[in-house]
Amino acid sequence: MPGFAPRLLPPAGSPAGPARPTAAADEDAARGTVVDRRGRPLRDLRLSVIDRCNFRCTYCMPREAFPADYAFMPPAERLSFAQLLKIARAFTQLGVEKIRITGGEPLLRRGLENLVEQLAQLTTLAGKPVEIALTTNGALLAAKARSLKDAGLQRVTVSLDALDDAVFRRMSDTDLPVARILDGIEAARAAGLAPLKVNTVVQRGVNDDQILPLVRHFKGSGVSVRFIEYMDVGGADRWSDGDVLTAAQARDLVAAAFPLVPLDQVRGADTAIRYRHADGGGEVGFIASVSQPFCGACTRARVAADGTLYTCLFATRGLSLRPWLDDHTCATQLAQAVRQRWTQRDDRYSELRASPRPRPGKVYPTVRMSLVGG
Ligand code: SAM
Ligand code: SF4
Ligand code: SF4
Repeated sequence: MPGFAPRLLPPAGSPAGPARPTAAADEDAARGTVVDRRGRPLRDLRLSVIDRCNFRCTYCMPREAFPADYAFMPPAERLSFAQLLKIARAFTQLGVEKIRITGGEPLLRRGLENLVEQLAQLTTLAGKPVEIALTTNGALLAAKARSLKDAGLQRVTVSLDALDDAVFRRMSDTDLPVARILDGIEAARAAGLAPLKVNTVVQRGVNDDQILPLVRHFKGSGVSVRFIEYMDVGGADRWSDGDVLTAAQARDLVAAAFPLVPLDQVRGADTAIRYRHADGGGEVGFIASVSQPFCGACTRARVAADGTLYTCLFATRGLSLRPWLDDHTCATQLAQAVRQRWTQRDDRYSELRASPRPRPGKVYPTVRMSLVGG
């Protein structure tokens, strides 16, 4: 893979990113949470419930790699809701405060509301309810938003790459109109799934002309749009660094049309660099995962639908949690296994890629995005 090192947003610190203050790491240890070799606590869990998807986004599941006869995980190999719940419980014992349900397309998993209902009963180490969120392509959201909210879902992020039907259909490789996704977003808003976010992956020359229409459409609606740099994750088989429109370039484009005011934020609390519209029309965000990586504050673990734990989006190998998922092993034993893995964690792929030479060559194959859900 060619190196990629534009630094168009002000650098956040050293080339390797900001180190986590020792005091913060000490505090985490005192609270009983687990920290990795770089002092990063385990705070967020992305739980993938299915590897299938009803879209074939060209940057994630290109049709040539995922044809009609592609061998997806047989349903019997997917974790059951009881197993997913056990995993979630173990992670909360280690300090996880947020669980994001993802996929593939999570709304394809039948009875998802039942899982949400059980996850919503979990509490953090501090005794607060664990935050349950969902990332979806929105195609099935209009039908499900109300029942998911009733089950205890708190937040939804909808992925939407264009307002123009032709651009949307080209990127997601479906026949659906954009209106279907907008109906889903409206249903989520009406159900009280707030704050609502829309995530847009920007590919230079493909949908960068959609940035301003998207900002205009959602301005003043309570929905914040976040523009994500196109990443060279597993699944992005056609990625090249020339396809990346950086967060700074996207921000400049938006700021030229809509006056923006930067929002104070603690880097790490959110991956997006956030701005508000100067006239009070809400927020927009820019996620600089390629040009200004945030590995130093990466507190996320990902579990694929077959029960494999990955500690980085670019991991080449994961740890199967299956041995701890039988009926004779309790969540605390599972938590011990995860603790051991997390304490060994040293991942920082994006920082190494963006740092001055020598850069690592990308090792293939990395885990596919559609397995670990972004
Ligand atoms: N299907 C759901 C969806 O699209 O929201 C959830 C899974 S999808 C893998 C999660 C997120 O990953 C989406 O927002 C998607 O845009 C993002 N994503 C996938 N491939 C990407 C890539 N190459 N670069 C940046 N983001 C990507
Ligand atoms: Fe499916 Fe989401 Fe990947 Fe698109 S980004 S192919 S909707 S899993
Ligand atoms: Fe986290 Fe890995 Fe992404 Fe860095 S490259 S932010 S460690 S997932």
